Amino acid sequence: MSWFSDVQLGPPIEVFALSKQYNDDDFEQKVNLGVGAYRTNEGKPWVLPVVRAAEKALANDETLNKEYLPVLGLEAFTTAATKMLLGEDSPAVIQNRAFGVQVLSGTGALRVGAEFLARVLGKKIFYYSNPTWGNHKLVFKNAGFVEGREYRYWSEKNRGLDFEGFITDLRNAPEHSVIILHACAHNPTGSDPTEEQWIQIADVIREKRLFPFFDSAYQGFASGDLIKDASIVRYFVKQGFELFCAQSFAKNFGLYNERVGNLVVVLDNPEQVAAVKSQITLLVRGMYSNPPSHGARIVSRDNIRTMSSRIIEMRRLLREALERVGTPGDWSHITQQIGMFSYTGLNEIQSENMVKKYHIYMLRSGRISMCGLTPSNVDYVAEAIKDTVT
Ligand code: PMP
Repeated sequence: MSWFSDVQLGPPIEVFALSKQYNDDDFEQKVNLGVGAYRTNEGKPWVLPVVRAAEKALANDETLNKEYLPVLGLEAFTTAATKMLLGEDSPAVIQNRAFGVQVLSGTGALRVGAEFLARVLGKKIFYYSNPTWGNHKLVFKNAGFVEGREYRYWSEKNRGLDFEGFITDLRNAPEHSVIILHACAHNPTGSDPTEEQWIQIADVIREKRLFPFFDSAYQGFASGDLIKDASIVRYFVKQGFELFCAQSFAKNFGLYNERVGNLVVVLDNPEQVAAVKSQITLLVRGMYSNPPSHGARIVSRDNIRTMSSRIIEMRRLLREALERVGTPGDWSHITQQIGMFSYTGLNEIQSENMVKKYHIYMLRSGRISMCGLTPSNVDYVAEAIKDTVT
């Protein structure tokens, strides 16, 4: 009798299953709008020239070695990354009450932050937007949270934010709940609150004593402007909030498989930094001991470049093509949304039809990755959408 005979087959992870299906498909005009990774106008993955250059320089740098990094990571990286998010002149940075922890990309930042909140602070309930990035729930549950609850976010009817629902659900959240907020370019909907709405969100979070845990996976990638894409996190810091922010360098540096991330921790009191760091050290030590160096060295060497303009251009082209072919309905949300993803408004049956009939791979929720669109496939995709919704 095997130790493993009772192991049940787990459910597939939709986005990876879809990629496999796409790779196995030999239809010539197939299109992959599933996975959230940047592609060039020719549909190819892209290593940024700045990354290639940094890698060459690192390879030739005889002073570097393969010794362990500290448990909390490379300081040159965490300092630069934290300032990239909060700004050099951030009150929290100047007052030495903000710091970063180098972690395994955005997912690792969420996991380490969630472990701290659940295991050290004893927090039990977390809130996530409905819908949200598919991994938030699993990460927080596995980190020790007892209960995940949704807050309303997307209005099917308006193909935009359900702000009333959002704010009402926050108001009804029990004190001390942890609220996951997308810092910019909400995944999967591509719809962010306006500045005025963020002000109201912050007010409710303060009033109800909720803990804001930002997820920043797309800084610079959304608008092309690092400062603009970080403005909401900076606003919260200026308002005096204590917070966590999970920072990923997968998208904005194109370093998906290097797992470069930073958990930004903002506290009220600089005297608490040492204690909090020591507890995070124990969590990391017990999980993976210390982080890898390669990606962090690349990021600390150079400044960011963004790929946002091609994506913004593809939004324009898709909307234009949908309107040109006379697709029924209003498609203005495609250009109003921001970032890598778009919630098209296609329902589950329609999304499945796109895959089955047209070999256009997209999630059942109707989410498409704008990165999969190119000038040469956008018309095909628009025709398929038209045919599907008509
Ligand atoms: N949060 C959001 C909202 C994301 O979209 C992603 C990537 N798809 C991540 C976190 C984490 O990605 P990674 O672990 O690769 O940095």
